[in-house]
This record gives sequence, structure tokens and C-alpha cells, in this order.
Amino acid sequence: MKVLVAAPIHEKAIEVLKNAGFEVVYEEYPDKDRLVELVKDVDAIIVRSKPKITRKVIEAAPKLKVIGRAGVGLDNIDLKAAEERGIKVVNSPGASSRSVAELAIGLIFNVARKIAFADRKMREGIWAKKQAMGVELEGKTIGVVGFGRIGYQVAKIANALGMKVLLYDPYPTEERAREVGGKFVDLETLLKESDVVTLHVPLVDATYHLINEERLRLMKPTAILINAARGAVVDTSALVKALQEGWIAGAGLDVYEEEPLPKDHPLTKLDNVVLTPHIGASTVEAQMRAGVEVAEKIVEALKG
Ligand code: NAD
Repeated sequence: MKVLVAAPIHEKAIEVLKNAGFEVVYEEYPDKDRLVELVKDVDAIIVRSKPKITRKVIEAAPKLKVIGRAGVGLDNIDLKAAEERGIKVVNSPGASSRSVAELAIGLIFNVARKIAFADRKMREGIWAKKQAMGVELEGKTIGVVGFGRIGYQVAKIANALGMKVLLYDPYPTEERAREVGGKFVDLETLLKESDVVTLHVPLVDATYHLINEERLRLMKPTAILINAARGAVVDTSALVKALQEGWIAGAGLDVYEEEPLPKDHPLTKLDNVVLTPHIGASTVEAQMRAGVEVAEKIVEALKG
């Protein structure tokens, strides 16, 4: 059996494939013509968010049985074309949950204590002790919107920090909520009562601009908003207004409606926002877990 690894994955994942007796061909992000050549005789392909596995690629791969995505989103794979051929598509949705959660917590601390702001001032030679007055997290309320894999991890850490945990999810899981000392409430209550609102919902029709002007106005003027889910869950223009006009105190963002975030975007002009370039899943551990999990699923699918 032959597996094409078309994106960088952890060496342990390659080991899993080799230990199963598979031949592994590694070529990082081949362009579309090269990809069509490479897939001629492969039984499986592993990708990340790139390269694109189009219908043309699938048609060029008569032996293809499994497509593995090391990570979560499957937008670069033509799922319909795969399904028509009975090709299995596997991914590793839980591999990065802890990493994304830890980034969200990092953003909360960063905004609450104005760490990035203070750092910028230090580099300008400014000792901004007064302007960098912050707030503690212990005893404050965190509202977790979307209590799935990542939301659960965030709630667990927040609970350990001594925060009161409010949860909003259309599919409440009471037992898991008890594990993190959390209480389910409706979205309006969560927004009104939380000192930190952190978003962990998927981007679907119902969550597009879930946090809009009206909902931002429900939040406390001292509140912090964290978005490490998907950019379009928040109406960015409304958020910029909220941050400029002080409807909320600050925000920590890892995802944007337009990525990469344009250089002169209004968000980059605001001191009360911390910005990271979609690095939620960018940890050694998450990358390793994602690769190994997908490699194991491919071995299982090919060996039965
Ligand atoms: P998940 O499927 O485990 O959890 C999502 C939760 O959201 C579920 O409990 C679901 O019931 C809930 N939900 C669905 N619609 C909702 C709504 N309208 N209101 C409130 N809750 C709703 O997903 P996950 O693995 O926890 O991932 C959550 C988000 O994190 C996704 O958007 C994903 O794309 C994003 N993510 C970001 C990064 C990053 O690098 N920043 C990395 C991985 C995932």
C-alpha cells in the first residue's frame, strides 16, 4: 500500500504508516499538476488545510481509498467527489482542542493584564505603569459560548482559576457542565453577566455574526470578548465600534473575517485588542496528535 503525504505532518505519524508496512511518499504542498501525477498509484493521501483535493485529483487516483486531513476543517476536500467513489475521509477533530483552549486563556490573561500593550510601550521606551492597570480573573464570570471540545477545556481551566462559569449551547450536556462547575443559561443572560465572553462555536448559518451590535451592547463595559472560533462568528465592524466607543473593554482575537488580516485594518489601530494570526492549533502537541490520529485512522481503514 502506498500513502502520499502531501503536507508537513509530525514524524511520529510517518512512523505509524511505515510501521504498518506502507510505502510513504512525502512531498510538501505539490501544485495541482504535480498532485495529479503523484496520486496515480496511491491508496491514501494525507493533507492539512492544503493542498486542495479536487474532483480532478480524485479522478486521477483510481486506487485511492482514504483521504486523511491532519486537523479539523475539510473545506479543501471535494467531499461529494470522494463520496461518489466510496472514498473514506478521516480527520482529527479533537487533536487541537487543548491547544486552542490554552490560547484562548492566554488571550484572556493578555487582555486582562494588558501584556501586549505594555510590551509595545516598553519597546518604545515608555514605562506605561499607570496605563497598564489590569484586572484579576479570580472571582470573575466567564461565559463560554459553545460548550463542545474546546469550550469544555476552556471552562475547565477557568474553573481552576476560580472563575464562575456560565455556558451557552443549544445542546446542553449537564454532566459535563457539572465537571467544570458550569451553569447553562440563555445567551442574553450570559452576555449580560459575564466579565469574559469566549466563543467556541462552529461557523454555520446560525452562528454567522452571532455576536453583532445588539449583542455587543448587552455586554458589560468592563467585559472582554475572545474569539478563537471563526472570524465571521463576530460582526467585525460592530466589534471595532464597540472597542472604539467603550461598549466593552477589550478583545482577544485569533480569527478574522478576512485572513490574513489586512495590514491597515482598524483592529490593528486599537490598544485594547490583542491579535494573533490563527495560531490556536499551532502547537507541537496538537500537530503531533493530529498527524498520528489521522495516520492511525488510515491504517485502520486500509487494513480493516
Ligand atoms: P465542537 O463541535 O466540539 O463544539 C462546538 C459546540 O458549539 C457544540 O457543543 C455545539 O452544540 C455548539 N453550538 C453549535 N451551534 C451553536 C450556537 N448557535 N450557539 C452556541 N453553541 C453552538 O467544536 P470544537 O472542536 O470545540 O471547535 C469549536 C470552534 O473552534 C470551531 O469553530 C472551530 O472551527 C474552531 N477552531 C479554531 C481553531 C483555531 O486555530 N483558532 C482551531 C480548531 C478549531
